[in-house]
Amino acid sequence: MMYDLIIVGGGPAGLTAAVYARRAGKKTLIIEKDTFGGQITWSPKVENFPSHVSIAGMELGDAMFSQALEQGAEAELDEVLSIEDEGVAKKVVCASGSVFEGKAVIIAAGAKPRTLGLEGEQRLQGSGVCYCAVCDGAFFKGQDVAVNGGGNSALQDAVLLSEICRKVYVIHRRDSFRGEDRLVEALRAKGNVEFILSARITALKGGDELEGIEVTGNGGTRFIPVSGLFVAIGHEPDLGKFEALLKLDPRGYAESGEDCMTKTPGIFVAGDCRKKGVRQLTTAVSDGSAAALAAIDYLDFT
Ligand code: NAP
Repeated sequence: MMYDLIIVGGGPAGLTAAVYARRAGKKTLIIEKDTFGGQITWSPKVENFPSHVSIAGMELGDAMFSQALEQGAEAELDEVLSIEDEGVAKKVVCASGSVFEGKAVIIAAGAKPRTLGLEGEQRLQGSGVCYCAVCDGAFFKGQDVAVNGGGNSALQDAVLLSEICRKVYVIHRRDSFRGEDRLVEALRAKGNVEFILSARITALKGGDELEGIEVTGNGGTRFIPVSGLFVAIGHEPDLGKFEALLKLDPRGYAESGEDCMTKTPGIFVAGDCRKKGVRQLTTAVSDGSAAALAAIDYLDFT
């Protein structure tokens, strides 16, 4: 079955693109490998998206997904492994073995959490080392945990964890935070949060489970016993498998014009995986509409 448009990634960019495509009558399939709603579902609270003073990221993500389905988009939970450009048709090959064909494809694959690159980090994933406090925080109820990072994700994670855990260490490599002052002040007011600034995590300790972290900074190294470490040091794109179709910048982001067109006719890019200055929920949504409108134009006039 040939789709007009296949959207790789069911986050805010992909779901917005689906709404626009469906409203133009295009047969649309969204393929998501993890959670429809994308990265925003990891945010305990979203307070900077117009229309909601405050809303849980999961609720907002669910609403976006429902809207796309309501408009008639189809959805598949699967991982896209490759896209083969056969001119008029693009073959989208998935991990399950399914192959879908589309006349146009929007890659809205988002970005994956950046890792610390420490020995044992991969082994301890799910055994103490986590990348999403909304998803995994509840497993550490009453325990001591650490959060690494200085952006809004780390600060929001720390606020959430401080309400569940006995003690939360916030470790950041600089002496000031990149995230909002409001969140920093909220954390300062908590009795169970300790900031460790100008410091880096230099080792993970433990066998089958995380037992603690080694933190180096301010002229020394200390061991902090924690059963959970939430790594929130940003995200990076994961577009290597689509490299032949895209022009990637040195950091791996896809280059495109404001219309989200790539070097390959019929292939568009949107959201956090696109090279741009501002990566916010609002700019992901903006990309989704621009990419969909460009794809609709491509479908109607080529
Ligand atoms: P971010 O803003 O890029 O912050 C990443 C943090 O990790 C920075 O503090 C950075 O340190 C630190 N870092 C990076 N690499 C590191 C490494 N190798 N070792 C140790 N620390 C490292 O990422 P984010 O917090 O995920 O946020 C991404 C975007 O989403 C931001 O624009 C943010 O405002 C937005 N966001 C919004 C909401 C919301 O409104 N609900 C929630 C979460 C995120 P430096 O500061 O030294 O560079």
